[in-house]
Amino acid sequence: MKSATRTDDATRAALRERLVEFHALGKAADLLEWDQETVMPRGGAAARAHHLGILKKTAHELFTAPETGRWIAALVPSAEGRDDDDAALVRWAAREWRRRSRQPAVLVAELARLTALAQEDWSAARAASDFSRFRPRLEELFALKRRQAAALGDFPDPYDAWLEEFEPGMSTARVDELFAEMKAGLVPLVKAVAAKAGSVRVPELSGSFDPARQRELGLEVARSMGFDFARGRLDESAHPFSTGIAPDDVRLTTRYREDLPFSALFGVMHEAGHGLYEQNAGPDPKSTPLTGGATMAVHESQSRLWENQVGRGRPFWRRWRARFAELFPQAAGLSAEDLYRAVNRAEATHVRVEADELTYGLHVLIRFELERELLSGRLAVADLPKAWAAKSRTYLGIVPPDDARGVLQDVHWASGLIGYFPTYAVGNMISAQLWDAALAARPGIPAALERGDGAPLLGWLVDNVHRHGRKYAAEELVRRACGGPISAAPYLKYLRAKFGELYGL
Ligand code: ZN
Repeated sequence: MKSATRTDDATRAALRERLVEFHALGKAADLLEWDQETVMPRGGAAARAHHLGILKKTAHELFTAPETGRWIAALVPSAEGRDDDDAALVRWAAREWRRRSRQPAVLVAELARLTALAQEDWSAARAASDFSRFRPRLEELFALKRRQAAALGDFPDPYDAWLEEFEPGMSTARVDELFAEMKAGLVPLVKAVAAKAGSVRVPELSGSFDPARQRELGLEVARSMGFDFARGRLDESAHPFSTGIAPDDVRLTTRYREDLPFSALFGVMHEAGHGLYEQNAGPDPKSTPLTGGATMAVHESQSRLWENQVGRGRPFWRRWRARFAELFPQAAGLSAEDLYRAVNRAEATHVRVEADELTYGLHVLIRFELERELLSGRLAVADLPKAWAAKSRTYLGIVPPDDARGVLQDVHWASGLIGYFPTYAVGNMISAQLWDAALAARPGIPAALERGDGAPLLGWLVDNVHRHGRKYAAEELVRRACGGPISAAPYLKYLRAKFGELYGL
């Protein structure tokens, strides 16, 4: 017995060391990617692709070395039913091992090559607003992703193979359930608000909004949320994102549009919401893959909560109205209530990333349904623009005027991120559940936000979400934090209350 335990301990230590190394290589790649999106000169692209390719290949070979598989196999039985960090790490490694070892190296290399080409084609097709220029590559890509799903195998629904990459622990059947609930509530609510939209006055802000001042405001707001700039940065990039190199080094990016007063502000709040999660999800600098956000849906619940429940809420604008008007004189005559109404204008629009809180879920629904039809073969890639327009008409009541504002608007498919979209909507659902639970536990949160103090809300999130890192999947984390399963009901209740009041329903 004693010697078996010693062997187990040695195996556990060896696996842990392997995962620490694997994680470090991944973080080095993340930093190179951050650099590529922010400050790298354009000429560096080819060298960067070469260096990243080698780094990722090395990480993959390290992880899939035969001994890693032997260590995992030896430790899995004793990890079952246990709740400690070590057991969670073994379970994480076992799932990652299964995914990586089932995909032949040539398939992985082919996917990497094809997505690089697809992003170029997508970019050109979008600039020309012409889907036919992207279609051949997208057909190849979906065919290859179907082969990947088949290689990953053993799922009740083939879509599970894609979903698992972003939302481990959640089945497609579960997403179906949640989306049916969301759709039943959201579709009539969007219609009811649209019917009233013409009769409700929404204050307008026009003119130019100095980017330097927008940056100043973004920094102040992020700081008030609790984002620590001694352990993080804010830079500019074409597509805003955030990345946690380590809890003590978290990078946020945004972009500034001179004609839009709120786009960068909410962008920064969104990314800082992700960033706060990364800053508080694991304090160990020599970290394992359990450091960082649990799943994409949980990550998105954090960004959405700060962006929407906080940033598009009344307490926030009571605190920030005066400062906003000081930076942007065109807002001088507006009250906090005016600004609250201005940032909550609800109107069906074509582009998901610019969608309001109310219609956002329907944009996700469109993509999820199309991906599943493409996977099953019921829909051909060539028919995508037509199918997109039909769904847009059904759910949003509008038809995109061109491909750029329709089927070509998102980079996800070109990047091979098929199965990613559902996490956005599930994240919205979770954000409402966490918001309710946080307010019930700490009723002083709105008053604190009105003073510009995000600490009580952040403290609750750290205790109930962040500190667990990647230990639990979304469903378990929500059960622990909110006392029940993931549900669309609190999100629908929140939207009904907010937009019902704003639009007099
Ligand atoms: Zn996000």
